[in-house]
Amino acid sequence: MKAAEKRMSELTREINEHNYRYYSEGNPVIGDTEYDRLVKELKDLEEKFPLLRRPDSPTQRVGGQPIDGFVTVRHLRPMLSLDNGYSREEVCDFDQRVRKLLEVAQVEYTVELKIDGVALSLIYQSGRFLRAITRGDGIQGDDVTENVRTISAIPLQIDYTDPIEVRGEAYLSHDEFARINHQRESEGEPVFVNPRNATAGSLKQLDSKETARRKILFFAWAGFLTEDLKEHRLVLDFLRKHRFPVNPQSRVFKGIDAVMEYCNSWEEQRHTLPYDTDGMVIKVNHLAWQDVVGFTSKNPRWALAYKFPAEQATTRVKDIVVQVGRLGTITPIAELEPVFLSGSTVSRASLHNQDEIKRLGVKIGDRVFIEKAGEIIPQVIRVIAELRTGEETDFVMPENCPACASRLHQAEGEVAVRCLNIRCPAQVKERVLHFAGRDAMDIEGLGTEMVTALVDKGLISDFGDLYFLTYEKVIELDRMAKKSTENILAAIAKSKERDLVNFLFGLGIRHAGTRAAEILAENFFTLEELEQAPAEKLITLREIGPVLAESIVDFFQDAETRKVIGKLKIAGVNMVQKEKKASTRKQVFAGKSVVITGILEGMARSEAERLVKESGGRVSGSVSQKTDYLVVGKDPGSKLDKARGFGVKILTEEEFLEFVRGG
Ligand SMILES: [Zn+2]
Repeated sequence: MKAAEKRMSELTREINEHNYRYYSEGNPVIGDTEYDRLVKELKDLEEKFPLLRRPDSPTQRVGGQPIDGFVTVRHLRPMLSLDNGYSREEVCDFDQRVRKLLEVAQVEYTVELKIDGVALSLIYQSGRFLRAITRGDGIQGDDVTENVRTISAIPLQIDYTDPIEVRGEAYLSHDEFARINHQRESEGEPVFVNPRNATAGSLKQLDSKETARRKILFFAWAGFLTEDLKEHRLVLDFLRKHRFPVNPQSRVFKGIDAVMEYCNSWEEQRHTLPYDTDGMVIKVNHLAWQDVVGFTSKNPRWALAYKFPAEQATTRVKDIVVQVGRLGTITPIAELEPVFLSGSTVSRASLHNQDEIKRLGVKIGDRVFIEKAGEIIPQVIRVIAELRTGEETDFVMPENCPACASRLHQAEGEVAVRCLNIRCPAQVKERVLHFAGRDAMDIEGLGTEMVTALVDKGLISDFGDLYFLTYEKVIELDRMAKKSTENILAAIAKSKERDLVNFLFGLGIRHAGTRAAEILAENFFTLEELEQAPAEKLITLREIGPVLAESIVDFFQDAETRKVIGKLKIAGVNMVQKEKKASTRKQVFAGKSVVITGILEGMARSEAERLVKESGGRVSGSVSQKTDYLVVGKDPGSKLDKARGFGVKILTEEEFLEFVRGG
């Protein structure tokens, strides 16, 4: 036992070292196989001696048991937010106040990018990560320790044994934000408004395994140490030295003019960064001087957040209407007086849900500021309450569905209000549109207008009816000519040949996005097999969790679904995975999940995927605990790191070829 403990601690240290070299420096010093071996050895020891497994073990990055809720914890020292400045004048005023208090002519400042994320306080004791707390109200915040443990950018062990508190910003890159939203959209889940909300949502997941799937990043911006460092800049250097990611753009300047110049230089340049920044943080560099300048009750007097002017516009909320989604979710939408903003005219903005309306305090008739999140999605930022006339009215969530008049339903504990009527014409339209979409049956010409006409005229009541449309009926519709009618019917007929994977996605099973459709198609090959699969069997598949499994079973048991599928069968729509071909290859990957990452030099990605499939394996898009192999090309990115964390077997392109050819 003693020997095991010693070995485990050695392994932990070694693995952390390699993680750091790989993750923070991009400069690994050992090969994948070697790394693999270390992780496996540690995992084996942990299995053998579970009592010796440390909570900060590098094998624990995958997330633990779901929790019921978050515990509120008091901060060791108040975690105050910064005072904001929006103009040069406000920055100069700040400088003047500081100089007056210090009675000096010029002050040295550090200037850092202000990352638009979620502020965290991290506590370390005896060199180990102990606890993570959100800012909360500045006095107390939520204990998010288990979720933060899954963030690879945050060290679980540091080479410093005194107690230390590190503060910084958890954030998401634009790419990761887009990935998460794309995923949610394909699963029929509401998307996040902006990267900051997505980060907050990820940190507040009750299931830390879910947090682990999202690639949250971190920049440290403050540290409280026992060490007597004289300058804020030196604290940042200290943190960097102890392997916390520190934003490389911080600089020290004497005098406010140089500070302002640096701030201005980022106003345009910030758009080239892969993450959101909304300003610059200006801090008095000398810590002794910070103490002299001190705090107000709300903010430190020695720091200012200079906010970049956002591209915003003001307009009026003409009305708030509700939209019914494919799964019956009711979304309030602000109809705006059209206004030009960042390259396009904006006339609508989603208000997401009632909570968001309450948070904004927006009323019908209000003048509001709007902005584009991630420079794409228009959003209402705030109400200009001073311009209210008294004519404004509150939005009231209707009690009945605007499309079918059935009573709306709000499940306990859920924000979303839903229309539960499966025949609701608004839902039918959305489901048909989803079915006809590019990743699904790809029916060209079947857009919103056409679908609306078909449903409103009673020509279809579900997407199964599409295949029974006749020339005589369709040409009757407004604005349909001979050619366009023929085209649409031909496109519908052609879609019968789509592959099983597209068909499954098109069905619009709740929580089942494109990824789930792929997994199902790869494992079942025919719709019939899938229809009969019990939840217990579905759960055994990689990446299919209990919620999705339940949703699939419910879907196929539903009487309405059975009816629609019946129509599709009669119409002769393909329900078989066509790619299932007899393979002569040895099944070296039989039953294994393989992820391919990076640029392959000798073959196209699709070729590699085909080889895996022909060798009996499944190709998966993301690395999880269930991944068996990771094939690594050039510039592999984060998947390699993740795979190492899971102890996934890693193959170079050459090894991979040897593997499939040798087989
Ligand atoms: Zn309805």
